[in-house]
Amino acid sequence: MVNLSESRALKTCYLGLGGNLSNELGTPSEHIAKAIASLSAHPQIEQVRASSLYASKPMGPQDQPDFINAVVELQTSLSAQQLLEVCQHLEQQAQRVRLRRWGERSLDVDVLLYGDENVSTRTLTVPHPGIKLRNFVLIPLAELNAKLVIQGELITDLAPTNDWTGLTRLDDNPS
Ligand code: ATP
Ligand code: CA
Ligand code: CA
Repeated sequence: MVNLSESRALKTCYLGLGGNLSNELGTPSEHIAKAIASLSAHPQIEQVRASSLYASKPMGPQDQPDFINAVVELQTSLSAQQLLEVCQHLEQQAQRVRLRRWGERSLDVDVLLYGDENVSTRTLTVPHPGIKLRNFVLIPLAELNAKLVIQGELITDLAPTNDWTGLTRLDDNPS
């Protein structure tokens, strides 16, 4: 008999990782590197590819450190909800503490894209609502896949993909 949980087709997904707080577990770039290692080790996740690291100005309150960001491409047989739970587990592994909206955090992991599917539930909206507005997400996404189409629009045609305001590409690839 076919086991449905094992027969789900692989989806190409993109996650956005970011953080701006160090804690006893490491710096923001170390939190990102550990999260990528955990994703690569997950039995239902394959072919993990990470963008470069980027430094970005904070999006919300300005009285906080600059962020480190990266985007990860992966293939998975997990459902979108299960992938969100993996992301939240990675945040817990980095001992994320919620302080204020768009405030400082050790690690934030968002589901940016789940194949070309639209998801809208109480806990999950995919594509991520901020995806087309944020250069710190679009520029690393385009680095991984310049041919990506997001809700009918080619990534390189989206204005923030070509706007480096507040963003610096760092040399080291975290994976
Ligand atoms: P933003 O979502 O604007 O980037 P944030 O990442 O700081 O802000 P969080 O506090 O990390 O927001 O997340 C709040 C809630 O968003 C989560 O509890 C989760 O249920 C929900 N959520 C909805 N869609 C997504 C998604 N695509 N990826 C991650 N979380 C999502
Ligand atoms: Ca976020
Ligand atoms: Ca989040």
